[in-house]
Amino acid sequence: PQHGGHRAKEEKIVVTVRLRPLNKREQSAKDHISWQCLDDQTIVYKPGPLERIAQPAMFTFDKVFGPESLTESVYEEGVKNVALSALMGINATIFAYGQTSSGKTYTMRGITEKAVNDIYMHILNTPEREFRIKISGLEIYNENVRDLLNSESGRNLKLLDDPEKGTMVEKLVEESVSDDQHLRKLISVCEAQRQVGETALNDTSSRSHQIIRLTIESTLRESAECVRSYVASLNFVDLAGSERASQTNADGARLREGCHINLSLMTLTTVIRKLSVGKRSGHIPYRDSKLTRILQHSLGGNARTAIICTLSPASSHVEQTRNTLLFATRAK
Ligand code: ADP
Ligand code: MG
Repeated sequence: PQHGGHRAKEEKIVVTVRLRPLNKREQSAKDHISWQCLDDQTIVYKPGPLERIAQPAMFTFDKVFGPESLTESVYEEGVKNVALSALMGINATIFAYGQTSSGKTYTMRGITEKAVNDIYMHILNTPEREFRIKISGLEIYNENVRDLLNSESGRNLKLLDDPEKGTMVEKLVEESVSDDQHLRKLISVCEAQRQVGETALNDTSSRSHQIIRLTIESTLRESAECVRSYVASLNFVDLAGSERASQTNADGARLREGCHINLSLMTLTTVIRKLSVGKRSGHIPYRDSKLTRILQHSLGGNARTAIICTLSPASSHVEQTRNTLLFATRAK
């Protein structure tokens, strides 16, 4: 963690922290700011007059993005190198992790857009290679997998183990992308499809994970035997609200009723914790959940990961924000 600017280039797991502004609803509910950026590396807890200081109240990272920060800066500094490694045959996954309403979807949409721009810029600047891009989109809700590009395929697609490709989702549509416009359109189809679920099943986005997966393949045009070809996945993952990762709050209180634990999220946090301490061998429980099975090859092995931890500054979310900061500290 001491390598400063080089870190984002080389580390397998790059962790970024983003604190959003207080929103209008919070302002009108007389909520106030409890978490602030002290400088561009430190987030502190400032208790109101009647609050007690719970520990820890200060967190330090290589870089934190405050309320005025742009998604573009988050992308440039915390994501870009990881995302673009998928163009060189290294699997890459970008996660948004944080409690419901902390800014995961907001951040991930902007990040995906910037990555799409950069991918097509790279393709334009690399005329010696021929690129093929495919996209698939899925949602995991209650450990059931649904295709976001094919609303006809039902809500519980099966996972299959392919000896070469690893875990596959049966019948998942993989659409070949013709150009950047086409790709943007398919991404918005996935997003619209996720929202269809939302109205039918109240509050799904806090419970579901969305994965948009690009498969990027390229070959050198001059090479007759198709040697020097690259293939990798680039996954954009908008996770379920992190309040579903733990059974208890930091102060030991049980979560309010109806806030069920999310198996995929809990397993993911375990997998990331094990990977971040360098345990690439040994038992990593990928197979314990759908999310980690689907992402296994994009997490372990020839793979890079960026985790954007999104935070609410609001006094009404103090403990969840602290939980996310603790997760970010353990993951880096
Ligand atoms: P989540 O997906 O984590 O539940 P959202 O991305 O839907 O949260 O964000 C909740 C609200 O906060 C939305 O209205 C969103 O536009 C706003 N928001 C989130 N992050 C930011 C930010 N960095 N700057 C300004 N507004 C934000
Ligand atoms: Mg969301």
